[in-house]
Amino acid sequence: QDRQPLLSVRDIAVHFGGIKALDGVSFGLERGQILGLIGPNGAGKTTLFNCLSRLYTPTSGDILFAGATLLDRPAHRVAESGIGRTFQNLATFSRLSVRDNIRIGAHSASNSDIASDALRLPWVRRNEAEIDGVVDELIDYLELARVADMPASGLPFGTLKRVELARALASKPTLLLLDEPAGGLNHDEITELGERIRKIRDDRNVTILLVEHHMNLVMAISDIVVVLNFGRKISEGSPATVQADPEVIRAYLGDG
Ligand code: ATP
Repeated sequence: QDRQPLLSVRDIAVHFGGIKALDGVSFGLERGQILGLIGPNGAGKTTLFNCLSRLYTPTSGDILFAGATLLDRPAHRVAESGIGRTFQNLATFSRLSVRDNIRIGAHSASNSDIASDALRLPWVRRNEAEIDGVVDELIDYLELARVADMPASGLPFGTLKRVELARALASKPTLLLLDEPAGGLNHDEITELGERIRKIRDDRNVTILLVEHHMNLVMAISDIVVVLNFGRKISEGSPATVQADPEVIRAYLGDG
């Protein structure tokens, strides 16, 4: 049971008409690991991410989460399975306060750290006191106390990114999906983000999958890197292995 990967992507394909956005991609993600998913533009990263958060259903193949298929779950029930996500384009509500934005994520939660149980048991509804506790803790954890009661609109982009993280963590995910978390951040903010992501993994027992263009961040924080190109997995391994892989170098130099 413990030896099975938390996430197992099995031979998934996604076809849009004649376009094979994904074509037989497989990989596993162990509990507690950080996996970086990279690839040149159009490689299929967003498509794969959207399959994991169940916005898309693969044309074929399966996705197992803690041993059970995710494909029978609609997108709105993925969070209760223990999967949280952030969005490439900020998905904060601008008129709501930071606190209320985080509350949205806290209203329901996966009911256990053991995702295999969470897949079978009904979603836990938290009471208001529990929600307050979760939100307060995350405000503290993500250093948002100073802005907690301000509306999200007008806050710096880097702060809103932390609000997004807090909102995603509020459902107590077992697996956290980060969609280009470094997008729009400056160099120092990216360094800080990298430390924060590792800390979240270490402190909160969260397994993390990120899609990211910022190569230095991916290589600095990932345990495993999976490289896609033209919808296929062309490489997988430690950052050092992947960086030295001639196929990967070729793909990024642009001759595919
Ligand atoms: P980027 O780094 O540019 O975001 P990506 O690796 O995320 O790229 P995808 O967005 O997954 O790549 O796209 C993979 C392929 O599938 C591309 O050829 C893209 O044009 C195509 N594609 C993606 N979504 C759709 C769609 N809804 N309908 C048709 N084709 C699509």
